[in-house]
Amino acid sequence: MMYLDNAATSPVRREVLEAMWPYLTADFGNPSSHHAVGEVAARGLAAARETIATALDCRAAEIVFTSGGTEANNLAVKGIALAAPRGRHIVTTAIEHEAVLASCDYLRRHHGFEVSLVQLGDGGLVDPGEVAAALRPDTTLVTIMHANNEIGTVQPIRAIADIARAAGVPIHTDAVQSAPWLEVGLRSLGVDALSVSGHKLGAPKGIGLLAVRGSVPIEPVLHGGGQERGRRSGTENVAGAVGLAEAIRLRASASASIGDAVRRSRDAIIDGVLGAVPGAFLTGHRDARLPAHASFCFPGTSGEAVLLELERRGIVSSSGSACAAGSDDASHVLVALGIDDDTARTAVRFTLDSTIVEADAARVVSAVAVAVAAVGSLR
Ligand code: PLP
Repeated sequence: MMYLDNAATSPVRREVLEAMWPYLTADFGNPSSHHAVGEVAARGLAAARETIATALDCRAAEIVFTSGGTEANNLAVKGIALAAPRGRHIVTTAIEHEAVLASCDYLRRHHGFEVSLVQLGDGGLVDPGEVAAALRPDTTLVTIMHANNEIGTVQPIRAIADIARAAGVPIHTDAVQSAPWLEVGLRSLGVDALSVSGHKLGAPKGIGLLAVRGSVPIEPVLHGGGQERGRRSGTENVAGAVGLAEAIRLRASASASIGDAVRRSRDAIIDGVLGAVPGAFLTGHRDARLPAHASFCFPGTSGEAVLLELERRGIVSSSGSACAAGSDDASHVLVALGIDDDTARTAVRFTLDSTIVEADAARVVSAVAVAVAAVGSLR
């Protein structure tokens, strides 16, 4: 079986599990406990925070551990918007993850915020000039993802951040999909807050983080014992944090050639599929794209049926987003790109890992050609 759904989730890396193991067994303490057992856990947590801060170009005290990307996005959007001293206006895009869009919608419905969606260019790319045009004197937050999970488009986040910060508006970016492949430093990207999720990176599900500059006020979403400097209550997932630190460290020390190799396999899939399947088109931007991401529409088919055909041939892919899988709704991302609902339902996404080589790409291309032909002939 060839697993090509790494944007949905990835297996835990052996090194990550090994780093976690002591904190699940002998060093099981509660890091808030004032005794030796707790102190061992607290030291593990502090070391994890330091490792992550180095890799994410921020200070250890700026890391808030969360249960994952969804919680990090909720904390960033609600927390920064509600702590802002004045104004009730948010700038975002229509292709954000649901955790951002639903948080914005919550602020609109319950706290009187207005939400502006920035116009999208080719392949869902954001023009920083459009962000500048959307800013108002009462804007309290800009939240624009670094890379999109469904179409792989990578935004010019540094240029967008420079515009927001020059206007004195905090900027958050959802880096859940970019963190496994691209540099995602808080200061090097120029953002104020950045979300990361462990399970996309070779750490387990149930751990993630928000890196948020110390200068940016943030209202907690979870209230309780005041852990994480009062920004996120709840006993920390020490083993998860240690695993996330190891996954981020491994990613930061990985050689650039890994990204280059996966990019070549991705390109072989994109070029091969577009050449072999009549009517197929790529979704998202051709060049400003995650190195491991290939996504298509196959008009005249059903994406779900193509997935099943591919799975019968040993290839595991996805119709777009795991969150929307199972629902019959057309993807909000593809619809925002101007793709009609019926065509959006023909989407199939392949998200690679570093083990996929160009020979695998050839196998994917021929399986896709056969699967699409099989589904098309049934209709
Ligand atoms: N943001 C993006 C871009 C994602 O792709 C995902 C997960 O699919 C999330 C946020 C949510 O992350 P988690 O599954 O850790 O809650």
